[in-house]
Amino acid sequence: MPIHTLPAQKRIALVAHDGRKKDLIDWAVYNKGTLSQHELYGTGGTGTRISEATGLPVSRFLSGPLGGDQQLGAAIAVAEIDMLVFFWDPLEPQPHDPDVKALLRLAVLHNIPTASNRATADFLITSPLMGQEYGRKVPDLSRRMQEIREDEA
Ligand code: PGA
Repeated sequence: MPIHTLPAQKRIALVAHDGRKKDLIDWAVYNKGTLSQHELYGTGGTGTRISEATGLPVSRFLSGPLGGDQQLGAAIAVAEIDMLVFFWDPLEPQPHDPDVKALLRLAVLHNIPTASNRATADFLITSPLMGQEYGRKVPDLSRRMQEIREDEA
């Protein structure tokens, strides 16, 4: 399996559904010092509110329901995002549920550290690996594509 190196300074994506935004903002404010050592990204609404609350720059994708989750998934697929903190809401249905599922799927597939609740986010952000390079194993998609082409031939 190929290895892709996560850099010491990580590109961290922050996303929260409306019912979980307060939790994520509280977490970001509490961890502002550590987050300031990394590059922050977010979906539109979440990114704006985290930037306002922390004073840190957050590069923003579209709002989640308008395509932001898909943009973020695409960025993970091409190794432009190194870590995902995504507080999705387990108590509310979301109109963009397929996009949410796709984003979580890509985060697992591409083996990036992912947190969906505060406890996991706390464990992640306090890991010594936050400030170090980390060799993550990534799927060898070129071989899989070759197999599919051979099956089709
Ligand atoms: P938002 O989107 O940050 O633009 O509110 C989050 C989401 O619902 O995925």
